[in-house]
Amino acid sequence: NVVKLFHGRGTTVRAVDGVSTEVERGEVVVVIGPSGSGKSTFLRCINGLEAFSEGHIIIDGVDLADKKTNINKVRMEVGMVFQQFNLFPHKTVLQNIVLAQQVVRKRKDAEAEEKGRMLLQKVGIPEKEHEYPIRLSGGQQQRLCIARAIAVSPEVILMNEPCSALDPIATARIEELIDELRGRYAIVIVTHSMQQAARVSQRTAYFHLGKLIEVGNTKQVFTMPRHELTENYITGRFG
Ligand code: ADP
Repeated sequence: NVVKLFHGRGTTVRAVDGVSTEVERGEVVVVIGPSGSGKSTFLRCINGLEAFSEGHIIIDGVDLADKKTNINKVRMEVGMVFQQFNLFPHKTVLQNIVLAQQVVRKRKDAEAEEKGRMLLQKVGIPEKEHEYPIRLSGGQQQRLCIARAIAVSPEVILMNEPCSALDPIATARIEELIDELRGRYAIVIVTHSMQQAARVSQRTAYFHLGKLIEVGNTKQVFTMPRHELTENYITGRFG
């Protein structure tokens, strides 16, 4: 029952308005909905980047709303991949992954580098370890961001429009990577692409004006939505 209010001059926006759902380890849940429906705010609340106003967010048994909870500790369990790559430009590809592990997990150089190389292999850019991020294509930068997110061994991976800056080929490779990651993490992806939602997720959640209108099996949501608002959105009548 998560609520996030933004207070402005004389107005209050209910950016997230009483959302309740669960995401299991091993599944990919996609969040769709028109601009301004609260998708990004919802992700930021899960990530502990945004303090929410009411309700509870429980990650692996730990409640973010509990005053005794160490938010920084919970945040170690949540990897985030953004639309903009936000990599460190003056650090090499490998250093970007190493630094994340040192900051979050206090890993020693050798251990962090070994893990970094293993992950660069996994995401398909092992030959880029000494390059600077600017010399990578958009798709390669996003693969580096994913490697960096999983380097700190999180339980949850959140992605906010991870492919919106990428061409179809780079998008397909990121989707393959997401498919490989499925199983070990609880993954939540915000996307504007309904084709992508259908390709990568088991379940789809539809947001509208801060409310979770429906969440269900992706195929069912796209072929037989239970709610008229969802149907209007996916058939292009709204949004
Ligand atoms: P989406 O990701 O679905 O496009 P957002 O979560 O970005 O939607 O925004 C949800 C609502 O919250 C919008 O009405 C937006 O204007 C408002 N909002 C988001 N962030 C802030 C903020 N920092 N301050 C005030 N209002 C905000």
